[in-house]
Amino acid sequence: MTKDLMVWMEKVRVRSLVMFGRAAQTIKAVEEFSEACAVLARHLLGQVDNIEEVREEIADAIVMALQMRYVFGEAEVDEWVRRKLHRHSVRMDEIEQKRLAEVRNYEDQ
Ligand SMILES: [Mg+2]
Repeated sequence: MTKDLMVWMEKVRVRSLVMFGRAAQTIKAVEEFSEACAVLARHLLGQVDNIEEVREEIADAIVMALQMRYVFGEAEVDEWVRRKLHRHSVRMDEIEQKRLAEVRNYEDQ
């Protein structure tokens, strides 16, 4: 994501929350996250003909996720992002080590 796009999203985020309020934007977030879930499920089931439909809903979800980050606390949400990324990285390291061990065991046989 480019810095220009991040700056633009931040401007829209501020304007949206001032214009519509936190409660309305939270309801909108629920709606957009639901639409993203639905289109991803339909994609996995082979029921989406146009991939742009998937991309559009992902974009809606990203825009709303950034608004919810502000509503619920940017620093606090960022800390959770760090924790999640760390945990995910640790899990991938463990899987990688397990796979390497399996390859070594296979080669030793
Ligand atoms: Mg949508």
